[in-house]
Amino acid sequence: MPAKGKHRRPKSHGFARSIAVAGVGGVALALPLMGATGAHAAAPAAHSVAQAAVAPAAAKTYAVKDGDTLSKIADAQHVSGGWKKLYADNRSVIGGDPSVIRPGLKLTIGQQAAAPAAKSPATATQASAPKAAAATATGSGYTLPVQGASIGTAYKTAGAMWSSGYHTGVDFVVPTGTSIKAIAAGTVVSAGLDGAYGNEVVIQHADGKFSQYAHMSSLSVSSGQTVTEGRQIGLSGATGNVTGPHLHFEIRTTPSYGSDLDPAAYLREHGVSL
Ligand SMILES: [Zn+2]
Repeated sequence: MPAKGKHRRPKSHGFARSIAVAGVGGVALALPLMGATGAHAAAPAAHSVAQAAVAPAAAKTYAVKDGDTLSKIADAQHVSGGWKKLYADNRSVIGGDPSVIRPGLKLTIGQQAAAPAAKSPATATQASAPKAAAATATGSGYTLPVQGASIGTAYKTAGAMWSSGYHTGVDFVVPTGTSIKAIAAGTVVSAGLDGAYGNEVVIQHADGKFSQYAHMSSLSVSSGQTVTEGRQIGLSGATGNVTGPHLHFEIRTTPSYGSDLDPAAYLREHGVSL
């Protein structure tokens, strides 16, 4: 048997466990999981008013395609400063949520931000930031989902208790009631009960990746909501199929189980120590 804090996803035991906790946040699953494409398709076409008049000659216009993310566009168009620069330059047409851009939206590329964009604090030298997990925010736009936790079961730990044959996330061992935070800004694509995962939140981020937080005792966000980095999304717990309280955390390429990436590597790539 695995040590305390591990969770399993067997084919048989999840249902009865779900019934036991169905009173907590059980209404939020009415919406189907909606991928980025579906969400974009449902949005009305954007007006291309924007800033043609103020753009310098070097700027060009890019029309957002189905499935685009700011990160993809920034890469493909070689935007120096990446998606954050692209977002800063087009914030007036994109709005407050960089993870939601609609097909047909006209982005200006190669333009100085019309309004004085906030200078990123991340330009400080790397050498001056050895603080590790103690800091809440990293300046990279990413943070740990829970502070002060030890790592329980690591990603890709093999075992028969997981339906995929390995652990699809990383477990942070924390007592029930610990504050769980969004690792970065994004949009909540689902919040509610999900079988063996118990109370679960899935958030889509500007780079197109999804973060998943499972087994929570309570949720404080709902589907469709925009969240900022470090915002509390709920409290840790032991809902779903678990042997003890912990946060099960995944990074995925889609909102769904089975599209997992190494979550620790992902956080480290974004300047978060764990
Ligand atoms: Zn887990």
